[in-house]
Amino acid sequence: MENKSSDKSNFFSEVLSADERIRFDRQLRLPGWNQKALKDSTVLIVGVGGLGTEIAKNLAMAGVGVLHLIDLDIIEHSNLNRQILFYDAEEGEPKSKVAARTLKKINPHSRYFWHYSNLEDVNPEIYAKADLYISGLDSVTARNELMRRAVQFKKPMIDGGTATYYGHVYTYLPNVNSCLQCDPQRERERETLAACTLVGIPRKRSHCLLKGQLFFESKHNRPPDTTEMDEVKIALDYANDLIKEHFPETGLFTIDEAVKMIDQHDPTVISINAVIASLQTQEALKLLHHLKGIELGVVNPEYLIYNGLVGKFFYLEKPPNKKCLLCGDNAPIIEEIELPRSSTLDMLYPILKQRGYHFDPEFLPSFWLVDKKEMSEAKRNNTLVEAGIRDFETIYVTGLTKNNEEKDVYVRILLKNTK
Ligand SMILES: [Zn+2]
Repeated sequence: MENKSSDKSNFFSEVLSADERIRFDRQLRLPGWNQKALKDSTVLIVGVGGLGTEIAKNLAMAGVGVLHLIDLDIIEHSNLNRQILFYDAEEGEPKSKVAARTLKKINPHSRYFWHYSNLEDVNPEIYAKADLYISGLDSVTARNELMRRAVQFKKPMIDGGTATYYGHVYTYLPNVNSCLQCDPQRERERETLAACTLVGIPRKRSHCLLKGQLFFESKHNRPPDTTEMDEVKIALDYANDLIKEHFPETGLFTIDEAVKMIDQHDPTVISINAVIASLQTQEALKLLHHLKGIELGVVNPEYLIYNGLVGKFFYLEKPPNKKCLLCGDNAPIIEEIELPRSSTLDMLYPILKQRGYHFDPEFLPSFWLVDKKEMSEAKRNNTLVEAGIRDFETIYVTGLTKNNEEKDVYVRILLKNTK
């Protein structure tokens, strides 16, 4: 390949337009910086809310070439205390769409793809081809789903979160530090919460309000609208009856407490949000250099906590857990298998056999689509297209053994580019 001097220079790069070279002039002067590496990069941002919009704005302004924005939400008035990308949006528009529109105005040289969708239904090819993932999510389930993709596609994932005057940043680095499921203790806490239903005695004061909310939901098939006092009061009265019975010494819930607990949004302010989003951005910028083989600082592998009330940072080490069921030694096996689009799923049997798997020919293994939000079975005589299998789709295969041991096996289908 021809090695022109312009390939190495940021200032005279032919990959960057004249406008970009002027726009990014100040950062081109940074030691170690490589603007072309950023231009060649693709970042996937899941959750385009407080953190996500701020990070997207930062990465667009820094000149990252491609941003994928994934969010299932629409814009509400309460987003406007911190989410700058929505300043001229109509309430009710999809967040990802408006974010992409505003980013195009901020930096027209990059490309923005919006996905008004949950993260599961986004094409797996996008996960496979992005350089790294950034989470601005507030849901534990969604974070875990994104983590699973990060582990299985071996991609770094920069997670962030804020709660009141605190925030955290944690960058998962494949094979370096722990994934979000390495710590079984936290899993158990989640299970305890999940076990809290309308039946049974509340074990904590907060459970009473949760039960009040569930009581409302059992009648109306939806959570109480926290802008309607009458609806909140139904949950509150139910909760306070339980308080009188089980925790009389603790005092009744107020209506404000009920609103905050029913409306599961953490209170947050722009300053903490901006600190955390900026830290996530900075880790992303370094990582994007590293992924292109360019040295630029070190990515922090520790869990960082920011306490905005005292202005201090704290760090926790996060060594990987070898026994982790997602990223450890016993993690499920992923077999990559390339197939033409027109093939049927039963073509997988001989290939799996070739790779040393055994199965009972009387009860052939079945195939399950596990990437999508709703898990479904794919019939063996379906073609890949009929089964709705996308490029890089992961399929769970039941009933396989290897060396007389039952194995959890996933197959990642790579579609051959033939018609
Ligand atoms: Zn793990």
